[in-house]
Amino acid sequence: MRSGPYKIIIGLALWLITPVETFAQSILRDAETEAFLHESSDPIFRAAGLTPQSVHMYLLHENSINAFVTGGQNIFIHSGLILAADDVTEFLGVMAHETCHIACGHRLRRGEAYANAGTASILSMVLGAAAILAGGTDAGMGIMMAGQSVAQGQFLAYTRGQESEADLAGAKYLETVGINGEGMIRFFDKLRDQEILAQVRQDPYVRSHPLNRVRILQLQQAVETSPSYQKPPNPALEEKFQRLKAKLMGYLYEPRRTLRKYPPSDTSIAARYARVYAYHKSLEWDLALTEAKALVESEPQNPYFYEIMGQILFENGRVRESLPVFKQAVDLGPREPLIATAYGQAMVSLEDPDLMEKAIPILEDATRQDSGNTFAWFNLAKAYAWSGRDAEASLATAERFYSAGVPMMAVMHAQRAMESFKMGTSEWLRAQDILYVSQEAAEKLEKQRRRQERQRRLSFED
Ligand SMILES: [Zn+2]
Repeated sequence: MRSGPYKIIIGLALWLITPVETFAQSILRDAETEAFLHESSDPIFRAAGLTPQSVHMYLLHENSINAFVTGGQNIFIHSGLILAADDVTEFLGVMAHETCHIACGHRLRRGEAYANAGTASILSMVLGAAAILAGGTDAGMGIMMAGQSVAQGQFLAYTRGQESEADLAGAKYLETVGINGEGMIRFFDKLRDQEILAQVRQDPYVRSHPLNRVRILQLQQAVETSPSYQKPPNPALEEKFQRLKAKLMGYLYEPRRTLRKYPPSDTSIAARYARVYAYHKSLEWDLALTEAKALVESEPQNPYFYEIMGQILFENGRVRESLPVFKQAVDLGPREPLIATAYGQAMVSLEDPDLMEKAIPILEDATRQDSGNTFAWFNLAKAYAWSGRDAEASLATAERFYSAGVPMMAVMHAQRAMESFKMGTSEWLRAQDILYVSQEAAEKLEKQRRRQERQRRLSFED
């Protein structure tokens, strides 16, 4: 859809980033979604004694129901899990359970079928190094890691003891933050029907978190004695969750299916949200814009509504018109690097030297806040190049490939940046950091690829 080696599908405000075909997992990035994930889960992390800023949450584009923890404090959530949760307490129930797997130091056990020993530890080393260097979220690396973990998901499971501990600790965290734990039970109960299915037909969550009646009964006892028992969900949080679900559904489902669930007669914000996407997907630009305008009118202070309206205009080729709308979104949500990136992208796409200059500080700010934002790096590099700042363009490109998990390309551009900057400057040192870590990552990936190749050959000979 776009130029460059990335397969970037800009679906309005949701970005599906698939940098390398071989990695099956894609991360969905959206400012509103990410803000919601933290707003809703941070109190739970705190209740568990974790530092919310160091827990990273990633939404994966996957229809199956799953959530898993990997590489320390990273939580991956399948879009299918969000869509399967009826309300926010069901979602937070799963998050509370997963939080214990982090806070209680659980590790997934290898099952007997797990033959590819060593892969996980090698990857976590690569990623550990990368995470230290990035000093924050690095979604691109997250993509790599996710691809691997899910592949192993079929063979890894927590023990029964760990599952019980996670249930009880999760119920405790929910009690601490005043959330009714019934949602947790309801969600697990839905999955219990899958126990009798063959493994391949089960959702991955069921395989890695073995369910049984005893677990549910034990959980019931813990939840029923909590002061928050039978308490309805927080209305503001519930509304945000329903909007997020609608947005996700509109983005992922066929328009016809979305419109069946959210017919035009439904004038709720969630329904309009879903329809913006449905109309956009079926190229009904005017209808999509009408819905987006209605959203803005209903909440004129909501940055996400301007963001979506700007995106519709932008994708419909009305780029100049989109600029003031994006600016409004940025002004209303100044700490939203993904919105700033959308604004910067619109500016850069016009290929107007004045706008290129103006886009640079906006994109620099976005990458400072969100160093794993490959798309912001891509646009920033372009703006630098247009402004004759070639050394900075090389470094930004190195950052882009580094955060996208394409170490070979990161090495090439980091080398170029090191040749252009003065030795010892902060830019030169940063380029060197990227070079070292990416070289190491490239070697490990190559070794892993060769091992897999060998295994494939061996299994053919059998
Ligand atoms: Zn579990």
